[in-house]
Amino acid sequence: MTNTAEFRDLTTIRVGGTIPDFREPTTRADLIETFRDVSSGRDPWFLLGGGSNIVVSDEPFDGTVIRISTRGIDRETDGERVLVTAQAGEPWDELVEWTVANGLAGLEALSGIPGTVGAAPIQNIGAYGAELADTLDSLQFVPAGRGDVVTLRPDALNFGYRQSSLKDGLDGLVASVTFALTPSETSTPIKFEQLANALGVELGATVALAEIRRAVLELRSSKGMVISDDPDSVSVGSFFTNPVVSEELSRLLPTDAPRFPLREERAPRVVPLGIEPEFVDYDTESHGVKLSAAWLIERAGIGKGFALAGSDAALSSKHTLAIINRGEATTNQVLELARYITIRVHDTFGIMLEPEPTMIGFD
Ligand SMILES: Cc1cc2nc3c(=O)[nH]c(=O)nc-3n(C[C@H](O)[C@H](O)[C@H](O)COP(=O)(O)OP(=O)(O)OC[C@H]3O[C@@H](n4cnc5c(N)ncnc54)[C@H](O)[C@@H]3O)c2cc1C
Repeated sequence: MTNTAEFRDLTTIRVGGTIPDFREPTTRADLIETFRDVSSGRDPWFLLGGGSNIVVSDEPFDGTVIRISTRGIDRETDGERVLVTAQAGEPWDELVEWTVANGLAGLEALSGIPGTVGAAPIQNIGAYGAELADTLDSLQFVPAGRGDVVTLRPDALNFGYRQSSLKDGLDGLVASVTFALTPSETSTPIKFEQLANALGVELGATVALAEIRRAVLELRSSKGMVISDDPDSVSVGSFFTNPVVSEELSRLLPTDAPRFPLREERAPRVVPLGIEPEFVDYDTESHGVKLSAAWLIERAGIGKGFALAGSDAALSSKHTLAIINRGEATTNQVLELARYITIRVHDTFGIMLEPEPTMIGFD
């Protein structure tokens, strides 16, 4: 008999339609076998972790969903490092808690991010100056349509800001992930000003792992960014990524706009009138300036708690970047609000916001 389920019960923003064929293998061998069978067929399939970074259509899903629930954490000493391998269904924050309790530094600033270990490399999760790519040793990957496990190293994964080849076309199952961590009771140097301020230390300082975890969890909770009974956490976290634009465009913004150059900025060039400017072609990804999507939204006139009339989708009352479901929101309502925000920001600043979550079940 085929099991069914509802995406709205399995996603943190609590929207999405029926799953007509729902599978939940619990051992690694079963997961790989189920994935091979399903992904070598003709019907659509989808791998579901904690459902914290997806927005799914209200319509029934046209295919099979495999939910990843495999558990287990192993460690192995490798010279001065400790290699920690976690199975894909391990809840991310339980892994972080385990590393902190076991005196292993590297993941502590990523405390409190919802979801599973297997999904963490997909968008190279990041927060408070750390990202998964900083400590990833390798991942064990099953290409779609196959049953063999290959080891992928970071250089094959093209990690960037909320990006990887896994989000960008490399289709398959992340079966487990291995991190290279440092045995230490103190953290890696703090890279995020807000976190340093919360701890009352300078940027670059190191403090006890447990202190970092406590401070990060506190900061995240104050923004509704830890899944809890806080109605502001019924979301997918940040709905938009921080846009990366050219230095020239970033200079046109009001002076108080937060700007984070990805590399040292080039000095502005003055082109005398009458001379044809020479446009330098360069890669915005590596030379551009990251802006704050939250600032752009607020300055486009959309404040915390904003909702369109008659809609149960709203901006979080604590964080302008999070769209929340206040109760009975549909996916259409969530997307209507997202479109409204995108248009307002574009009309005001000429900058197009991009959604962070993966959209499922749309053409
Ligand atoms: C309150 C809140 C706060 C958040 N804060 C942050 C943050 O600070 N930083 C950050 O980066 N993100 C954040 N997020 C987003 C989210 O938690 C992460 O992206 C997380 O890694 C998603 O994990 P998941 O298991 O829920 O993935 P899902 O939402 O289930 O899936 C996401 C994508 O990964 C794919 N996938 C899942 N598992 C696998 C697998 N084993 N193999 C291959 N593909 C797989 C899915 O098919 C889908 O495309 C936040 C979300 C919420 C709700």
